[in-house]
Amino acid sequence: MIDLDRERLVELMTEQAEIGTTADGGLDRQALTDADRDARDWFRDRLEEAGLEVRIDAIGNVFGRREGTDPDAAPILVGSHLDSQPNGGIYDGALGVVAALELVFALNDAGIETVHPIEVVDWTNEEGTRFQPGLQGSGVWVGEYDLETQYETTDAEGRRLEDELERIGYLGETPAEPQEPYEAYLELHVEQGPRLDRSSADVGVVTGVVGITWGELTFQGEANHSGTTPMHYRNDALVAAADVATAVRRIAASLGSDTVGTVGSVDVAPNSINVVPGEVTMTWGFRDPDDGVIERAREEVVAEANRAADREGVALEYEETMRTSSVDFADRCVETVDAVAEDLGYERLRLESGAGHDAMHLASVTDAGMVFAVSEDGVSHSPEEYTSWDDCYAAAETLANAAVRLAEPVTD
Ligand SMILES: [Zn+2]
Repeated sequence: MIDLDRERLVELMTEQAEIGTTADGGLDRQALTDADRDARDWFRDRLEEAGLEVRIDAIGNVFGRREGTDPDAAPILVGSHLDSQPNGGIYDGALGVVAALELVFALNDAGIETVHPIEVVDWTNEEGTRFQPGLQGSGVWVGEYDLETQYETTDAEGRRLEDELERIGYLGETPAEPQEPYEAYLELHVEQGPRLDRSSADVGVVTGVVGITWGELTFQGEANHSGTTPMHYRNDALVAAADVATAVRRIAASLGSDTVGTVGSVDVAPNSINVVPGEVTMTWGFRDPDDGVIERAREEVVAEANRAADREGVALEYEETMRTSSVDFADRCVETVDAVAEDLGYERLRLESGAGHDAMHLASVTDAGMVFAVSEDGVSHSPEEYTSWDDCYAAAETLANAAVRLAEPVTD
């Protein structure tokens, strides 16, 4: 087992948290802003300090490589993202990048060589707030997104992604794709949900990422005077929409304990106290680890919407706007993370991630796995986000030892 330096871990976390800090102690380090550039510069300095060979690719992903003893062995990739939401917390993906850094510092301190090279990575624009889509750097790298298309994405001020990469000095020369086959990818991230905090577990062993269906429903009724239109003459788009909003909760409950369903956005027109609602556009969103359940949720919400439209005499249009398949992480990675955490004496909880992560993309090109750190009260994307140093350390120690186990330490 490899020992991390707890003080250095805290110091690294504290250093990065001082870049892009907001008045309330959170972070505003959106992708390719000056703050993101400063965080990248800081990361690059640490990689160089650890003696790693740094390379930057064409979508701005930053890699540091620590060579292994076998020139033919495939690398183990470890990392996460340093960018944040506009009003995010200091842990999020940054903890994963810092833990990967601490891993290489600790290997250096202990003079441990590994058979496989170890690479540390900071992925570009995981959050997807300034430029969409999120998970952009890892998406290009695995071939899910086209580089040239992503270069043309713009922020709210119309600035192109490629121009911003160049402006901050991170339009790299390495092609944005794997330069060789990889052995595995491991990522530490805060859970962003309450399950670990509400259990007695110290670390989360992530088994996969849930699938998603998002869609939009539009009910077209008839806007009319609310004082003069008798109740039985009404075609009220909002009444149909309200039925669907409550149906979404029932559908989620009926499909399984892991299913979550949400109507997060409703747009009522004309939205006046004195007018029967003529048109309502609303969204649905379901997530579940099982793609069959996702498909059933979509079918059921559309069926409920049709029934609601019939009852109220309004027209319905619908569209599924996004669907992502669930991702199962590689057994080898899940088992390694679990076994290492057990050997370290930590109590583990196996869970699926309800949020998307770069690891989800990586799973299409290599064996991928994740470690979750406890999020106190499940709060994230907020200055209130908090993970105790003990929980940061437990997750970092698990990540580091899982990576070393996969990288095969050289013993003589
Ligand atoms: Zn994140």
